[in-house]
Amino acid sequence: MQAPSVGGVLLPRGNGQTVRLSRGASLTDFAEKINANPASLVQVMLNLGEMVTATQSVSDSTLELLAGEMNYVLEIVSPEEEDRELLESFSIEFGEDEGGEEMLVSRPPVVTVMGHVDHGKTRLLDAIRKTNVVAGEAGGITQHIGAYQVATDVNGEERAITFIDTPGHEAFTAMRARGAKSTDIAILVVAANDGVMPQTIEALNHAKAAEVPIVVAVNKIDVEGADPTKVRGQLTEFGLVAEEYGGDTMFVDISAKQGLNIDSLLEAVILTADASLDLRANPEQDAQGIAIEAHLDKGRGAVATVLVQRGTLRVGDTMVVGDAYGRVRAMLDDKGENVEEATPSTPVLVLGLTNVPGAGDNFLVVDEDRTARQIAEKRAARERNVRFARKGVRFSLENLDEALKAGLVQELNLIIKGDASGSVEALESSLLQLDVGDEVDIRVLHRGVGAVTESDIDLATGSDAIVIGFNVRAAGRAAQMAEREGVDVRYYSVIYQAIEEIEAALKGMLKPEYEEVELGTAEIREVFRSSKLGNIAGVLVRSGEVRRNTKARLLRDGKVIAENLNIEGLRRFKDDVTEIREGYEGGINLGNYNDIKIDDVIATYEMREKPRG
Ligand code: GDP
Repeated sequence: MQAPSVGGVLLPRGNGQTVRLSRGASLTDFAEKINANPASLVQVMLNLGEMVTATQSVSDSTLELLAGEMNYVLEIVSPEEEDRELLESFSIEFGEDEGGEEMLVSRPPVVTVMGHVDHGKTRLLDAIRKTNVVAGEAGGITQHIGAYQVATDVNGEERAITFIDTPGHEAFTAMRARGAKSTDIAILVVAANDGVMPQTIEALNHAKAAEVPIVVAVNKIDVEGADPTKVRGQLTEFGLVAEEYGGDTMFVDISAKQGLNIDSLLEAVILTADASLDLRANPEQDAQGIAIEAHLDKGRGAVATVLVQRGTLRVGDTMVVGDAYGRVRAMLDDKGENVEEATPSTPVLVLGLTNVPGAGDNFLVVDEDRTARQIAEKRAARERNVRFARKGVRFSLENLDEALKAGLVQELNLIIKGDASGSVEALESSLLQLDVGDEVDIRVLHRGVGAVTESDIDLATGSDAIVIGFNVRAAGRAAQMAEREGVDVRYYSVIYQAIEEIEAALKGMLKPEYEEVELGTAEIREVFRSSKLGNIAGVLVRSGEVRRNTKARLLRDGKVIAENLNIEGLRRFKDDVTEIREGYEGGINLGNYNDIKIDDVIATYEMREKPRG
């Protein structure tokens, strides 16, 4: 293959070296890496049939195509990976506890309360907070800092639990979409007088997608007509089977209003954590964790509530939170009291940051102010670039193929929204019945009736899912959000169309299988020598037909003596023809292959993609 050239100038062609680019990079970024002129890469893409500008953010598949053409191996780096590398360049590792097993000490579970609107999430969070005060925790006025910690007695032992104070799965999922894991356990609140509602299912699916264990709080049991048993039955359909029915999910009947059974609920959280999670962290190392909430306070400047995930955070520490940094001037706990240090799973309000970080940003303590500043500045610069030039391209039906080949996905995650539960269910079950082989799984993360919402887009962002809207559209800012996050949202009004498209994409996801199909054979009767063309075979076509520009092999005495030949020229008498059929004579030119003899057989074939059943 020849090196691509533009205007006669050869481009720097690789030797199969690896080029690393951020997801959503532009041709200019690519050019920079290989020392080429961006305009020449635009030209190469144009030759390949794609119109892209030099600075436009392009899809993984476009980068892939360009890299292939230029003989480079492409490696696409995700934002999370990029950040990890940034930290690595400062010899910092984020997300792993330092030291061995012996350094790990158990830490309290972090809980988010989710459920349908009006089922009592806020009331429950208040009730839990109060229980704790009654339990004798003296101190200041309870402050809303975004999270709080309570203690509960389980089997004679005092155990702490941290609650994220923003009810609902929106914040939880928004954080997850940014790669942060904030929650260990979800409490799913279901009002016993109302039963399972759309957002109950939504919350449930969000928790499941994050692989977070669920404890069900069946609330409002004080209300007349409350039917806790019915709630258990309803949730069974969604895979949450109560322990008393042989499942492994704990259900606790409560009244947030009357403060009934709150203790049992807390106990259930601890028991669930003990049974299914290994919550331990190293308290000795430099602190790391995530920001839960942050705002600009008139008197105190930028303040952020952070949740320590490992290590111990102390006043005086130098920290980076997202693109903010600073030395911790003071820390306040959830009771508004000054504290000197915060251990794993403890939320604290931190004063002393340069600016306001985002919820879900990670934080870490570093040794030197300079390091903190450099990390923060690099992150800010990257953030600016991203906002400027690109929208992140996630998985779409079009690029699933590459995503699968690159090993990025083994399953197609879907979120299905529709105008009626009947159509949603019909669509879901047809999609789940699609037979696309063993290599790809279809997983429906969430289904529901109603418009495509911001929460759906959040879930899609966090789980690399594709959203299907059946007879519904995006509501509010969901469309903009999908655009910004690069989430593929597909609208359909005919079920079979939706199924056809997904099926087609999935089949593209499977590596095509090729098989060889024989087209024809020709016996060489005579060999003509041409000074211009080399040897020409005078043939009689024995079977099928011989076509120009097909692949061929040469057989002598039944043995293959040459492979991968090409029927370059085909003639009947003086005329160039495209094919010669069985029983006819003609001349074949095999390009620069000249070793042919009388009685040799030329067999032609083509590779065809095997159809999938
Ligand atoms: P959220 O939207 O899930 O946060 O629900 P709220 O906590 O705001 O509660 C919605 C309404 O239900 C409020 O009027 C609460 O007072 C009421 N409520 C919450 N829990 C209970 C309960 O256990 N019993 C009764 N009777 N009412 C409750």
